[in-house]
Amino acid sequence: MSDQPAKKPETTTPPTGAKSMDAIMALCKRRGFIFQASDIYGGINGFWDYGPLGAQMKKNLREAWWRDMILNPCWGRKGPNGERVRCVPVETRIIQHPKVWEASGHVGGFNDPMVDDKETKQRFRADHLYKVVFFPRTEDMAQVDRTAALLLDVQMTIVASTVGDAIAQLSVEPARSQWRRITRGFAPVSWIITNDQAEAPCDGTDSHRIQSIAIYRVDYTQPANAIDRLPSPFTGKKGSLTPPRQFNLMFKTIVGATGTEDDAAYLRPETAQGIFVQFKNVVDTTRVKIPFGIGNTGTSFRNEVTPRNFTFRSREFEQAELEFFCHPDESPAWYAFWRDFRMEWWKSIGLAGDNLILREHDKDELSHYSVGTSDVEYRFPFTAPGFGELEGIAHRGNYDLTQHQEHSKVKLEYFDQERGDLLPNGSRRGERYLPHCIEPAAGLDRGVLALLCEAYTLDPSRPSPELLKLHPRIAPIKAAVFPLVNKDGMPEVAEKVYDDLFAAFGRDGFIETDAKQSIGKRYARMDEAGCPFCLTIDGETLTNQTVTLRDRDTGTQERVALDQVVGVLRQRLGL
Ligand code: ATP
Repeated sequence: MSDQPAKKPETTTPPTGAKSMDAIMALCKRRGFIFQASDIYGGINGFWDYGPLGAQMKKNLREAWWRDMILNPCWGRKGPNGERVRCVPVETRIIQHPKVWEASGHVGGFNDPMVDDKETKQRFRADHLYKVVFFPRTEDMAQVDRTAALLLDVQMTIVASTVGDAIAQLSVEPARSQWRRITRGFAPVSWIITNDQAEAPCDGTDSHRIQSIAIYRVDYTQPANAIDRLPSPFTGKKGSLTPPRQFNLMFKTIVGATGTEDDAAYLRPETAQGIFVQFKNVVDTTRVKIPFGIGNTGTSFRNEVTPRNFTFRSREFEQAELEFFCHPDESPAWYAFWRDFRMEWWKSIGLAGDNLILREHDKDELSHYSVGTSDVEYRFPFTAPGFGELEGIAHRGNYDLTQHQEHSKVKLEYFDQERGDLLPNGSRRGERYLPHCIEPAAGLDRGVLALLCEAYTLDPSRPSPELLKLHPRIAPIKAAVFPLVNKDGMPEVAEKVYDDLFAAFGRDGFIETDAKQSIGKRYARMDEAGCPFCLTIDGETLTNQTVTLRDRDTGTQERVALDQVVGVLRQRLGL
């Protein structure tokens, strides 16, 4: 078995912006990938369940992460120190001592500043407000005072999670009256996006009075951008927005049957803190030496104010996080290493091409403790032409260990025997320090969603035009075995092939078998479920001991000898 997962052949996928989120959500429900939680009671906002195929798909993603981050980190690759990367796992609890969240800054600072529209009673995150600025057309563009326009001439605002989301909303909302009034129905098509901004020239409309349209995220920390003076994104009226106010995103609960408010605790908003809190125990009990990583996966909770975009922003979701501890001097190199590996990893499981980018945060976007942060971002259909975060890779310095050391009064420094002055006996004096940390923090639910969006393909030339081109490693069904007809000895051979495949791949995913309906319908069903390969037992099987192997993505069929089926599939599935 090779270290690195088998590569899926390169295919050109259409931009996800062209895909319909409604169609993807409908397929997810129809084929048992994702259901609304408490569906029969009308659902509960911000919570989603996984059906049989979704649960297995998510497990495959979690296990791919576990294998490539913990068991065989970075596919056996050497790190910047020239040695193999070493990582160990922990599994920490959802409920921790409340002081953990005070130390981490979540109790004081894990708030999204929120804005209310007093008139419509709608509430949104202050950092989700974008202003739309219309630059008037003049004879001489230099006459336009862009700075003044930016500060004063905000005629319209919009609530969006990314600038791409803002553009998407504008392009599907011609009915928005402010937009119609100002642009007189003109819709720019070519937006130039840079980080959190977008600008579109209004070319080709000579008679039009607008030169260009720009969208900027409102930096509400600047007094000149006071949100309460901006027009409402819902009504366009000025004066109906409140200044931003803090709301804590952590879910609170009471521990113990007779507990009171004094026994209040929080459901964790991230898995990372469990790692920092157990750092000392891991170092003291495990033969690990800096540099090394500790990984943790599990459910996190955030009482998101506006859960939306399917599972993208949920109130309960699963994270897969690694804290990689290293010497401060080596941390920039490790940051670059992990940032690049994480990008490569997402590509290796099927997110290739223009829909995936690595975005380095601007300095003013960084948390106060962060030396550098990059996001792996995916172009979801609802963020297109912009992108949404899939994973953040942050250089966290020694912020977290410092905080926990201060709050717990327990020394968390690491004694590094391999550093410090060289002694006469040839050994080193040693160095005591708080390690720096690189944190690749991925969301498994967003990962599943991105993989589903990328895999979703419409091919009108097929009898059943919707299919999921899932990477074999992630696909919940690994293979399907069909007797062409349910007689003439074919079911018996199919059962034998099924048994062989089950023994070989049954731990990695489902092996399906189905004898009903036309063979075309059975293929279509498997295509929609993302099953990469179907095997059909037909008349020829009985005469020359071969089966038809059909490839989901190309629809091509070839004959494979019965006794080679497992080997061929092992190679193609990369398992
Ligand atoms: P966002 O800015 O989108 O709220 P974040 O930067 O707060 O995300 P992190 O704290 O860095 O997110 O969490 C790491 C990962 O956890 C994210 O990249 C994302 O994949 C996932 N995640 C965070 N919040 C949610 C959520 N509400 N629903 C689903 N996944 C989430």
